[in-house]
Amino acid sequence: MKIYKFGGTSLGNPERMHKVVKIITGDDAPKVVVLSAISGTTDTLYEITTHHKTGNSPLCRKLLDDLENFFADYIKNLYSSTSSKEKASNYLIDWMNDIRKLTESSYSIDSENEVVSKGELISTWLFHLLLEEKEINGSLLAALEFMTLDENKEPEIEHIQTILIKVIQENVLQEKIIFVTQGFICRNYIGEIDNLGRGGSDYTASLIGAGIGAEEIQIWTDIDGIHNNDPREVVNTRPISRLTFNEAAELAYFGAKILHPSTILPARQHDIPVKLKSTLNPEAEGTLITRAKRDTPCVVKAIAAKDGIIAIKIRSSRMLMAYGFLRKVFEIFEKYKTPIDMITTSEVAVSLTIDNPEHLNDLVAELEYFGETEVDDAQSIICIVGNRIIEENGVIYRIFNALQEIPVRMISYGGSKNNISVLVSSPDKKQALNALHDRLFIRDTQYEMSKN
Ligand code: ADP
Ligand code: ASP
Ligand code: MG
Repeated sequence: MKIYKFGGTSLGNPERMHKVVKIITGDDAPKVVVLSAISGTTDTLYEITTHHKTGNSPLCRKLLDDLENFFADYIKNLYSSTSSKEKASNYLIDWMNDIRKLTESSYSIDSENEVVSKGELISTWLFHLLLEEKEINGSLLAALEFMTLDENKEPEIEHIQTILIKVIQENVLQEKIIFVTQGFICRNYIGEIDNLGRGGSDYTASLIGAGIGAEEIQIWTDIDGIHNNDPREVVNTRPISRLTFNEAAELAYFGAKILHPSTILPARQHDIPVKLKSTLNPEAEGTLITRAKRDTPCVVKAIAAKDGIIAIKIRSSRMLMAYGFLRKVFEIFEKYKTPIDMITTSEVAVSLTIDNPEHLNDLVAELEYFGETEVDDAQSIICIVGNRIIEENGVIYRIFNALQEIPVRMISYGGSKNNISVLVSSPDKKQALNALHDRLFIRDTQYEMSKN
């Protein structure tokens, strides 16, 4: 069994949804098809909940009307038969009624989560009806019945596995081999509707893959694989054909928007290859992510950046020659369930970064007990990833050389063999990404070519 996940842009218009059908029916192998919401839907639903929260009913109503018009138009152009169009229009009426009801009663985080879950519910429903219209034997599985989180917001893999395997076996007996389900949405430990965070459908796909022991997880998107730099910030990026799980995990975690940060973890744990493919250009090779081979040479493969980073520096004379200082600092972060990304220490100061500002004030208040605490927000971590790059001669020199014009706030080197990270102020990010790209990928390639 393979998992096929299609992102919002892959479903962006009716023509693309037809393309997706073509891709998944290219062979007769059984597959699970995970869909996100059609592009723009989740953004609009979040906007609606924001206005719901602040009590801005006219804007809320306007967005709801726009959403209804968008889907009415989509439905008109998606199906060929009048009966499918009618069925879908009736679904749309109920769907809109549900959202309107939710946004007319009082706001709560539960109502917000329920509203934003609607995007995946409609995209999968419309897609399943399209399969039906084309007489393709598909089955629609409700993610809210199997995708669950525990008290720590961690997916319950065993529960997912038990339910899914049972449902799939029942369906296979009825000769159904295409299973369509929603990405992103799930239930929390008390059974309320929740989600896996923005871009979470990738994570759904790998959780399902791990749960059912899939042969491969394919992530289909609007670009031909993971590129060696962020194509939104840098021109001349190119797709990388092979990455290891560790490299891909670092890239996803440190900002490559193409993958949700947690996607690689279940795949790596169950040793399931992950393939990135382009819906717009299915012939392109894409990126294959697998376990590392022993003999892979040292090479810099990609650069990514993560925004919204907060740097915290604690300067304390008490740190001088003291042991147990870092443990006490870490305990504060543990208390507020705030993960630390980068860390550097000197004899009298420790600098670290976080990306979750939720408990910043409490953290700073407690850290001040240890010493003077400085906070800088609007920082970006730039992460240079590759196979054993810290063993490659001259990489650090090329990085410093590229960044000579850009103030660097922190450097992390040696924490992982596959990753060197630097912290820069966010307004300098674009320049840093471009300078590193030029130095690590363009100039040296030209030099190597000129030698041959
Ligand atoms: P989907 O809707 O399919 O989930 P996303 O928008 O989440 O797609 O991810 C695809 C986008 O990620 C691309 O269009 C590209 O702009 C962006 N992106 C950022 N970094 C990279 C990278 N290193 N390689 C490829 N795409 C990237
Ligand atoms: N629809 C959700 C979002 O926009 C999940 C996803 O796209 O993967 O964040
Ligand atoms: Mg995405």
